[in-house]
Amino acid sequence: MTTSCRESINLLLEYLDGGLEPDVRARLEEHFGGCTPCEEFLASYRETPKVCRLALATTMPETIAHKLRDFLRAEISEPKKQG
Ligand SMILES: [Zn+2]
Repeated sequence: MTTSCRESINLLLEYLDGGLEPDVRARLEEHFGGCTPCEEFLASYRETPKVCRLALATTMPETIAHKLRDFLRAEISEPKKQG
């Protein structure tokens, strides 16, 4: 059983915060290692300064929000209205 892109993104913040169960982390890492879109997103996320990562928990920088939006549109195709 593999982790889907949707699950991976849902769990990303928790994953980077170190708040996931070891087996869930392992599944995520396995997915990120074999999924180019997720791998690229994760890489771009990791390139952001630590202070930005902390801020990302509440407020996303425009570039990251844009990447995430594109990613979600491409991978999930789930219509969701922005407030
Ligand atoms: Zn993926």
